[in-house]
Amino acid sequence: MALDRFFRRRRPQQQAGADLPDLWTQCPQCKEGLYNRDLEAASFVCPKCGHHFRLDAQKRLDVLLDEGSFRPQSGRVHPTDPLNFQDTEPYPARLARAQAKTGRPDAVLTGTGTIGGLPVTVAAMDFTFSGGSMGSVVGEEIARAAEHAARAGTPFVLVAASGGARMQESALSLMQMAKTTVALEGLAARGLPYISILSDPTTGGVTASFATIADVILAEPGALIGFAGPRVIQQTIRQHLPEGFQRAEFLLDHGMVDDVVDRREHRAYLTRLLGVLTRQEVGA
Ligand SMILES: [Zn+2]
Repeated sequence: MALDRFFRRRRPQQQAGADLPDLWTQCPQCKEGLYNRDLEAASFVCPKCGHHFRLDAQKRLDVLLDEGSFRPQSGRVHPTDPLNFQDTEPYPARLARAQAKTGRPDAVLTGTGTIGGLPVTVAAMDFTFSGGSMGSVVGEEIARAAEHAARAGTPFVLVAASGGARMQESALSLMQMAKTTVALEGLAARGLPYISILSDPTTGGVTASFATIADVILAEPGALIGFAGPRVIQQTIRQHLPEGFQRAEFLLDHGMVDDVVDRREHRAYLTRLLGVLTRQEVGA
């Protein structure tokens, strides 16, 4: 292979998924060396052990939606620094770095597309942007997407990936829990389905609001899903936590999620599910 072709092939792969350097990636679970091209073809699921790699928002929607159907809507709202927040560095500097890294103003990508030919409104959270934390912009974009779904009469599909509320916006971040919930109520009032897919990790204020009030809550295998982290809980209740606590399969066994679905099956699964749910709505 000519060298220039080699590098042309390399570059898009480096940008494609989260933390996927060069041509090979080692699976953190089974330690197998995986060719990035094979990994991408398998929706970034390890073909050997089934480990689900984290995805950025664009790659997530590429996997979920029918090819070429996505039309973005988010991106016009930009975060500000109303509290003049500073920890080890000023909040605007942190934001600028995350924006340069991801190419988007904040930690969510929303828009419209189709799944199995059915029109949907979608939102994908981006863990590569400041740990998918929820500040004012994330809340606003998700609320707007839900409102758009209600107006357009489409189902709403959201993929969650978040460390929780963004501390740099403090109480303003917490208010997004209420705002998104109210917007989603508008969908329920119109009998339109809302499906949430919880990916690794989904925690904090996101778990405690819009991510877990869906009509159908799905999770990816092995995903960490919870409110507070296991160490905090263990220290608070002073009890040993069971094996697999806060993992998707544990939550399925305890009735907190409706199903655990392999990412390679998401589009087919949602096509069936949306077909059933929208037919029910028409017949109601
Ligand atoms: Zn593996």
